[in-house]
Formats: sequence, structure tokens, C-alpha cells
Amino acid sequence: MADATPSTTTPSATRCGRCQAALNESERVTAGDRVFCRTCYDILKLQLRTGVAAMSQDINYPMAAVGALLGGIVGALAWWGVTVLTKIGFGLVAVVIGLLVGHGTLRFAGGKRSVGLQIMAVAVGTLSFLVAVYLVNMTFINELLAQRGDTLRVSFPPKGLAMFYNVIAANFGIMKLVFLAIIMYEAWFIPRPIKLPSA
Ligand SMILES: [Zn+2]
Repeated sequence: MADATPSTTTPSATRCGRCQAALNESERVTAGDRVFCRTCYDILKLQLRTGVAAMSQDINYPMAAVGALLGGIVGALAWWGVTVLTKIGFGLVAVVIGLLVGHGTLRFAGGKRSVGLQIMAVAVGTLSFLVAVYLVNMTFINELLAQRGDTLRVSFPPKGLAMFYNVIAANFGIMKLVFLAIIMYEAWFIPRPIKLPSA
């Protein structure tokens, strides 16, 4: 019975979480809430590093650009619609542009992440916001022109960069700068590469 066969391993021996080998105090490596033998730990670490590296390789940038632009268009239209309807530039909608561009990039890149995707998302997010601001100002300026009986209208797309700039610059204050900063932060943050602790 129990006392007839002296056990060679202690009943509560710690076992490797991968190969089940019994581990003594000096052999075990703790990773999070699990314990592994040195060999298994090295194998798992290598697999993890390979997986993380693959996440930033072979990225379909044209596809990711489609996702970013789709997010930007939907976000810009939402900002335009809400602002024209309410006459208030809600910061929350600016947040939506950043979220849509960031997640559009990430989804259409098949979940891949890289600095290149981050830069692209920030560029598309910024452009989307500027277009959204242009559309809002265009609407209000055209309303004003119509009230005055003026036949002149601000068009979309704008007739040249000067028109684009002047319409946006008409009322570009500190709040718009804050919204833009939020959008850029989100677009940068969402498709960021995963970093492993260098241990
Ligand atoms: Zn093991």
C-alpha cells in the first residue's frame, strides 16, 4: 500500500506545463502562472518570437490602405452629418474617425501590425479629419452664401489646394487641434506591433 512502496518522486512534485517532466527547484522556469522545464521554456519562447515576427511580415499594404480609407470615409461622413445636424463639433465623433481608421487598417491587413501600418493609419486619419472639416465648413459657408443671395458656392471636391486650405483654415481652432491629436493617437495606437519584454 502507500507505505509499502517508497515513492521516488514527492507527491506534490512540480511538473513542466508542456512535457510533464518532474522539476526540482533549480530546473524550473516560471512564466506567468505556469512552470516549465528549461528546454520547453526555450522552445515556447522561440515559437512566441517567431509568431510575433510573422505578425509584421508579408503585409498586404494596398489591402490595408483600402481598410484605412473605408474607415476614414465612414468616419468623415459621420462627423459631417452629426455636425451639420447639431451645429456642434462633437469630440466623440472625432474619436470615431480614429477608431474606424485604426481598426479598418488592422482588419484589412488581416490582423497584421507594423510601424508602416501605423504611419499609413495616421496619414489617412489626418486626411479624413481635414476632409470632414472641409465638408462641414463647405455646408455652413454655402448656407450663408445662399442666405445672402450669392450664387457663389464652395464645391466638393475643392478646386485646388488653396481652396481646400482656405475653407479649413476659416475656423481651425484649438478644439480641432485636440480632435486631430486624438485621431492621430488612435490611428497610431491600434495597429502597433506587439513588443515582447527583452528577457
Ligand atoms: Zn518540459
